[in-house]
Amino acid sequence: MLRAIACLSLLAALALPLQAAEILPHGAKASAPKSNGGKGLVEPKLTVPRGGDVTRVALTFDACMGKTDLRILDTLISENIPATLFVTARWLKHNPQALARITARPDLFELENHGENHIPAVDRPVTIYGIPAAGSPEAVAKEVQNGAAAIRAATGLESHWFRGATARYSPSSIAAIRAMGFEIGGYSVNGDGGSLLGAREAEKHIASAKDGDVVIAHINQPTHAAGDGVVKGILKLKARGVQFVRLQDAPPSPPGN
Ligand SMILES: [Zn+2]
Repeated sequence: MLRAIACLSLLAALALPLQAAEILPHGAKASAPKSNGGKGLVEPKLTVPRGGDVTRVALTFDACMGKTDLRILDTLISENIPATLFVTARWLKHNPQALARITARPDLFELENHGENHIPAVDRPVTIYGIPAAGSPEAVAKEVQNGAAAIRAATGLESHWFRGATARYSPSSIAAIRAMGFEIGGYSVNGDGGSLLGAREAEKHIASAKDGDVVIAHINQPTHAAGDGVVKGILKLKARGVQFVRLQDAPPSPPGN
């Protein structure tokens, strides 16, 4: 239940008006945070530099908690499609077999930080879709730093991007997370509506990705119909000749772009 509710925020994000405005390391672009509802929370957009002659898309998948959607993981591996995976400490603990397959393919997979316990990284006591946020700067820091520590302990890898549960933040928590050395893992295409879309809708959303888009979907809901659509959408993009990049691979953009 908690998981399903957490993902609802991503459905709401579908209608957000967003603009790219800021250069990030690795050449990725993020928007100036936009207000999201009446609570002063923001949900930053992220894009990667356009490929120009080739359509460039960054696929990102959240592993919030729970299990592994092998429909998606098997497809990424068999089709040699690179992707960025945002994982929590909770997911890492319960999915050692999937993690072994992921770390065996460093040419395909970038692992990034989705937090320790999948708690929204908001530094004041609010509830987001029924889920209590971290609630204090100290609790946000714990969620972020313990998420990174879990990745380090499980894989030896350092993470450089953070995406909080529900993908919503307060402006002050964004500043704090950046001060900890992480960029905010936003996105520009909501691929699966928090894994709650039907298969056809998810396929349509992902197949709609344009040059420079960062797609978010979930890789931890093997029983949801959305996963079938995610796979079909990815295969459609590949058939179109899309160049898939990870966030760490996005080439630098000239200043001012
Ligand atoms: Zn999540």
